[in-house]
Amino acid sequence: MADTDVRRPYVVALTGGIGSGKTTVSDLFAEQGVPVVDTDVIAHELVAPGQPLLASIVSALGQELLDAYGRLRRRKLREMIFTSAETRATLESLMHPRILEEAERQILALKAPYCILVIPLLAESGNRDSADRVLVVDADTASRAERLAARDGMTRTQIEAALAAQASRDQRLAIADDIIDNSGEKSSLPQKVSSLHQRYLSLADEWRRSADEPRTVPFG
Ligand code: ADP
Repeated sequence: MADTDVRRPYVVALTGGIGSGKTTVSDLFAEQGVPVVDTDVIAHELVAPGQPLLASIVSALGQELLDAYGRLRRRKLREMIFTSAETRATLESLMHPRILEEAERQILALKAPYCILVIPLLAESGNRDSADRVLVVDADTASRAERLAARDGMTRTQIEAALAAQASRDQRLAIADDIIDNSGEKSSLPQKVSSLHQRYLSLADEWRRSADEPRTVPFG
């Protein structure tokens, strides 16, 4: 199969719990020149004022989610989904398909051997098939709690609620092809990322060579 038939990069999903170090790790991949598609960034953009998805969310969950400037009241929404599983499910059913559609659009526009697709909630959504490989950033709960307190000024109660709302470490590790252990020093990360980068370049090359049909759609 000719190279030109391969129309998308190899997709490495990067996931991990809140405060595990996903952003830190994805920034290191970006430094190696790897394109990063971040579903959190996409989610943010899709609910900017005037976006159709914002209108759908407000009509499903309530007008009080908009402030006087037509912006989403994120804190209010966060409170609502922490206290109601039904609200969370409604929000996810509206957002997930649009996020994946936009991620797919961005991936198909890339010219690179592989890309990093940051999907924080991959273990929760169960959509393991949205990637060719899964990289989990893992850190022990105490380190994550400490970093969240330092980064976001979250209280102990907020941190516990956020951790409890997510998949457990074991659930996340169960979907991993590769794991970055980020319980230790940040200074050990560049070396770990650079050796994974080499591995992904060769996996992407193998994958591209073995294609017996056009590689087009990442999500199936
Ligand atoms: P995530 O994107 O998974 O929520 P971040 O990459 O933002 O996590 O990391 C959470 C916070 O912890 C950030 O302030 C980051 O700078 C810091 N951090 C990340 N890794 C380490 C580490 N190994 N040691 C200490 N602090 C870290």
